[in-house]
Amino acid sequence: MTKQRVLVTGGAGFIGSNLVDYHLKKGDEVWAVDNLQTGRLKNIEPYLHHPAFRFDQSDICNWPRLLEGVEWTNRIYHLAAHVGQRLVLADPVNTLSYNIRGCELILQALFDIASPARLLIASTSEVYCHCPLEPGEALKEDRMLQFPSGEFLQETYDVSKLVNEIMGLSYKAKKGIDCTIARLFNTIGTNQSPSYGMVVPNFIQQALSGEPITVFGDGLQSRSFSNVHDTVTALALLLDTPKSKGEIVNVGGDRECSIIDLAKMVKKIARSESEIRYLSYQEAYGVDFKDVRRRRPNLDKLFQLTGFKPKWTLEQTIEEIIQAKKEMQMA
Ligand code: UDP
Repeated sequence: MTKQRVLVTGGAGFIGSNLVDYHLKKGDEVWAVDNLQTGRLKNIEPYLHHPAFRFDQSDICNWPRLLEGVEWTNRIYHLAAHVGQRLVLADPVNTLSYNIRGCELILQALFDIASPARLLIASTSEVYCHCPLEPGEALKEDRMLQFPSGEFLQETYDVSKLVNEIMGLSYKAKKGIDCTIARLFNTIGTNQSPSYGMVVPNFIQQALSGEPITVFGDGLQSRSFSNVHDTVTALALLLDTPKSKGEIVNVGGDRECSIIDLAKMVKKIARSESEIRYLSYQEAYGVDFKDVRRRRPNLDKLFQLTGFKPKWTLEQTIEEIIQAKKEMQMA
């Protein structure tokens, strides 16, 4: 494949920085933009002096070089967004406006210069919200979506991502913008910060420091986790194939794990003495939070379009993260 000029919005974030790494290793040029609100400079520090990498610290909604960046690139991963349950709950108004506005600016810039660049919009498995799942069933992209009314503060992130999806596909249909939607399921990996309350980095930090491992609710809720190495490979493959144009595609791991089993797994792999402590949602989030009960993607479409299947098991990924944390503590 010819050398790519890759623009990553949210490029200092957890998944964004792994995309930066992936494309630089392939010999592509990469331009990352990030306001460093949840992204971390540390994530991209190894590349700051790389001749094929440039970084702008800027909010995507006020990025002065937006048009220049969009003119330069032939492949965009749009990941810049307000993310993380705690941040979203604390700031629902800005979550909505930032996530919607940022995506619109990218789409409009592509249209204004009639760019043929490929655009991948990062959406989320949270758009499936509280869709019920039968035993053995997995969420398919054509699933009818349902949102609870009256619990809107909790849903601002999901709704903003759903608007991004519809906006992207409308620009595709009416303005000829090449766009693909990736619905990302729970992604985990070595440089994910525990600061935003996500379960795996939290559990690992708690297990390694001997603090209680905090399971929210009854612990029987489940998620399906994907190693970020698998996630970025899948995202890149989606933009490598023209078959993904205009498609909504699940990206994630399809092995479901309950949160209590996850807590036990982390404790065992970390050889930790931590107790497993149950917390109510009120204690955990300060509000009566309505958690998603089960979440598991159907990955048939991803496989049909790209041939991709996840390579990392959950155990291997947890081992990898624990190992990286231990090495960091020793350094
Ligand atoms: N969770 C937990 N303890 C924690 C953090 C999260 O039990 O310290 C639970 C949370 O209630 C949810 C699951 O783990 O059921 C995944 O939470 P996360 O915020 O990582 O992802 P999401 O809910 O957005 O899928």
